[in-house]
Amino acid sequence: MHFCDTHIHLYTPDSEEAADARVVASDVAGIRYLIQPGVRVADWSGMLTLSDRHSQVYAAPGLHPMYADQWNEDAAVLLRELVRHPKVVAIGEIGLDAAAESSIKVQEKVLRAQLQIALDEKIPVMLHCRHKNGFLLDILHELQVGSRIGGVWHGFSASLPFARQVVAQGFCVGIGPILLRDNVRKLLATVADLPASALVLETDLPDMARMPTDLLKVARKVAALRGISLQQTAQLTTANARRLFHKLQDNNR
Ligand SMILES: [Zn+2]
Repeated sequence: MHFCDTHIHLYTPDSEEAADARVVASDVAGIRYLIQPGVRVADWSGMLTLSDRHSQVYAAPGLHPMYADQWNEDAAVLLRELVRHPKVVAIGEIGLDAAAESSIKVQEKVLRAQLQIALDEKIPVMLHCRHKNGFLLDILHELQVGSRIGGVWHGFSASLPFARQVVAQGFCVGIGPILLRDNVRKLLATVADLPASALVLETDLPDMARMPTDLLKVARKVAALRGISLQQTAQLTTANARRLFHKLQDNNR
């Protein structure tokens, strides 16, 4: 069984060993692809170093809406350069966050700038959204992001009607440890009923999960909700990730 964790923060500025230990733990559990989303500009080069060191580790550099204030011309030039790296599979995590310090106006400007780079370079996006779902979906629709490059709406927790709109635009939804919480009835229905081709898995470590192997707990829950085996869940979610992130290489060890 081969899994793909489409959203895992491996890189920490202070400890290379901690990151390496997480890669090893993932590998033992059959997680053959790890995609690290970017948060701050300062993390991008460390993420790339980690990707260069481990064949199964990839990167999705980008500026998180929490740090929208860091965006400038130098960041734009650097990001455009990084997307050409063979281990860079997406731009992320980008989006809108109602709890961030920067205004939504500033966040929107930074989001649009990064979406434009992704569209120009034909690379998918990793989306982050908090309490701005309708507005983010409108922007994505306006630019036809889903049909032109695709992406993952990460940390998905919304109801089935909204999920259907996201998927209809051409996006996948990232299913993570939120699924394991109590009182997520709407999300259970979403995961059970969405088209199988729209589902990918994530841990969002270290924010949402403690162990890389928590991905398997999420996978087991997805399998139970859809009435399929763990093996089938691994196959379909990894195939979805490989179709979307087309720079993921064959890793059939
Ligand atoms: Zn994240």
